[in-house]
Amino acid sequence: MPGEHYEIRDERFARLIHSNASIDILWTGGRWTEGPAYLAAGRYLIWSDIPNDRIMRWDEMSGAVSIFEEPCRNQNGHTVDRQGRLIACEHRGRCVSRYEIDGSRTILADSYQGRRLNSPNDVVVKSDGSIWFTDPSYGIDSDYEGDASPMEQDGRHVYRIDPTGGITRVIDDMKQPNGLAFSPDESFLYVADTGRTHFPDCEPKIRRYPVAADGTSVASGEDFVFCEAGLFDGFRVDTAGNIWCSAGDGVHCFTLDGTLLGKILIGEVVANVCFGGPKRNRLFICSTTTLRAIYVNAQGLR
Ligand code: MG
Repeated sequence: MPGEHYEIRDERFARLIHSNASIDILWTGGRWTEGPAYLAAGRYLIWSDIPNDRIMRWDEMSGAVSIFEEPCRNQNGHTVDRQGRLIACEHRGRCVSRYEIDGSRTILADSYQGRRLNSPNDVVVKSDGSIWFTDPSYGIDSDYEGDASPMEQDGRHVYRIDPTGGITRVIDDMKQPNGLAFSPDESFLYVADTGRTHFPDCEPKIRRYPVAADGTSVASGEDFVFCEAGLFDGFRVDTAGNIWCSAGDGVHCFTLDGTLLGKILIGEVVANVCFGGPKRNRLFICSTTTLRAIYVNAQGLR
């Protein structure tokens, strides 16, 4: 039935979706798909299949799917910077890296205060060119998504890479920081906490941190929204400030003030999403084994 994959909680959600839009299955066969990023110039999407240690590539023109890189140091989250370069979080590499225009790889961050990072998970680029990333322990907890290794940091935190290269710790009060994104005006940084995986008392949630006036740090944060189905992992923000967030039963859509507008229901656990297509109005959904996409009446932030 058309529209049966939606759950509308607020009438505003009906204006953000197309009732007759289908969920397209673009590819299946992964173990844990994550980290989608749309490369506008090449009109293709890449995403991670973390336990299989490969990055996949979907071509928008032909629909063909191929391997982009394998092995890939168990990459997880990706984003595209202001110059169109792909930025990667590497579990096994325990770093944030960048694909340069000439194909070479630059490591942007692999340690903090002389100790190795845990396993960078997700990443966002701010308008000033700084790169903000989360560093939970999932990539060093076992050999499944990286190399099992001791944690050298004193916890799981959020970091910022300055355009000049310096690294600062910007958030240190989370259990397992995971997906992250800025509000459209960059006054807030949102960060998902999946700490429930290790700490039973940790509510699955997104926290919200006010960004300092100079843009280089955040003030103390607050719990913003809680997850009623599974965990929030990766998410993206549209131009109106709505948050499209992965969850255990699909994609949950929240307003700027934290109201749950509705859901796109998927029959698998969703780990991450991103907007793509020439109009940035197609939502790509990494859901456990499968890459899906659906057109929405919203545009992803650039
Ligand atoms: Mg993640």
